[in-house]
Amino acid sequence: LASRDFHPEDTIIDIKGVKIGGENLVIMGGPCAVETPEQIDEIARLVKASGAQVLRGGAFKPRTGPYSFQGVGVEGLTMMAEAGKRHGLLTITEVMTPEYVDICAEHADILQVGTRNMQNFDLLRKLGTCGRPVLLKRGFSATYDELLNAAEYILAGGNKDVMLCERGIRTFETYTRNTLDLSAIPVLQSLSHLPVISDPSHGTGRRELVEPMAKASVAAGANGLIIEMHTDPDNSMTGDGVQSLFPEQFDNLLKDLEKLAPIV
Ligand code: PEP
Ligand code: MN
Repeated sequence: LASRDFHPEDTIIDIKGVKIGGENLVIMGGPCAVETPEQIDEIARLVKASGAQVLRGGAFKPRTGPYSFQGVGVEGLTMMAEAGKRHGLLTITEVMTPEYVDICAEHADILQVGTRNMQNFDLLRKLGTCGRPVLLKRGFSATYDELLNAAEYILAGGNKDVMLCERGIRTFETYTRNTLDLSAIPVLQSLSHLPVISDPSHGTGRRELVEPMAKASVAAGANGLIIEMHTDPDNSMTGDGVQSLFPEQFDNLLKDLEKLAPIV
């Protein structure tokens, strides 16, 4: 079902009038994690003012170690839904287990599957019937074929609204957190009709690399970007402050991107 052979035209996902796929460029921005109502509200205001369409933020965080901050949980879903509504933004949040799919779907417009869960097949199956579009992140050591097979699990359940996301893979390089695989964008678009979103934040792990890799992703044909932005990155509750843009950098990036492709 994910294959171009089966479905030659680009899939366009329409969420409350925001179209994802085809010629449209969607920008999702926001913090790694939802922290407080004030934090997410202020960031939502800035994300909207910069012209992005979707607010990102994790209420459940898949942390590498069990003692790290795990996210604020269900309350975070409400904080984010309110901020999104107040500022006229769609919302995207990560869901980590099948049990939480329904409650996340109740509060968010798009559900995100993180890199560590790309092959959590029970989760993928549950997302096949969740009634919400899904952004499926590539596993950090997954091949294109494995990513497309993971998407297939969601599609097979009847959910046609799947976006693929390149978020960097593990290579021998240690300077960057991951290696953003730009080739994934045109390759996945040739193999599949599904929209392809790039994540230059996790793809590089370094704030100064987000802008060039965001532009490179759009030049490579990405249908959208998901970018971390924080009003106080040095004091953010996950370690991802080092890759989060300051609001002004986010704003400048979107102005530059408008010259490459209209953000609609
Ligand atoms: C995130 O988006 O904050 C995240 C945890 O992403 P990934 O699953 O790509 O590491
Ligand atoms: Mn993050």
